[in-house]
Amino acid sequence: MKLKEYRNKRHFGISPEPSGKDQVSKKDASLIYVVQKHRASHLHYDFRLEWNGTLLSWAVPKGPSLDPSVKRLAMRVEDHPIEYSSFEGVIPKGEYGGGTVMVWDAGTWIPEVEDVDAALQRGDLKFTVAGKKLRGSWVLVRTRGYGSNSDRSWLLIKHRDKYASTDDITAAAPRSSASDRLLAEIARDGGGDEAQAATGDPLQKEARRSPTKKSSGKKKEPARRARKQRA
Ligand code: MN
Repeated sequence: MKLKEYRNKRHFGISPEPSGKDQVSKKDASLIYVVQKHRASHLHYDFRLEWNGTLLSWAVPKGPSLDPSVKRLAMRVEDHPIEYSSFEGVIPKGEYGGGTVMVWDAGTWIPEVEDVDAALQRGDLKFTVAGKKLRGSWVLVRTRGYGSNSDRSWLLIKHRDKYASTDDITAAAPRSSASDRLLAEIARDGGGDEAQAATGDPLQKEARRSPTKKSSGKKKEPARRARKQRA
């Protein structure tokens, strides 16, 4: 029943997202942590923590910050099925969340509190994540929001530890932790809107483009440029 809201919003014959009806066999007892970068009507990062058989989910418009002085708005959204943690691809236009989804970071998490349900109720969940991009201690704390979303507003904040930093992690590490692709590449591979997806990727440096290759293979240009830049 916990996934009722998730299922009500989606058409699984049209969207490739998982329905959450399959039996999930997990390798171990550790709890899944995943952040999905999602270029829908607006770019946001979906921060998800496995708990009680589903993924607790928050949509973070600006994405996580490694800087403990920065508080990032995190809107609590409907629980997602466990299988969603590996979903990367294109949600068709017109469907709920239509756009491109990337597995931006993934790993495991450990609660820093004895009673997670009580912490969620209280609106103050401290935890440690072991991802590829995000590590160390964090907190999700409920805040007073506005209007109909007043009880859904939380803040995602990095605690001070050796993983805290003023580096802009979303800008420095824009690629999928699962496939190393940019949003535009995921959209292209999934038959989605490549141009829309690209608006969620960092701007490519025009100066890197070779003038002699300007006219040829225009369609594949962004991906090729991106790879060159990374090398
Ligand atoms: Mn989303």
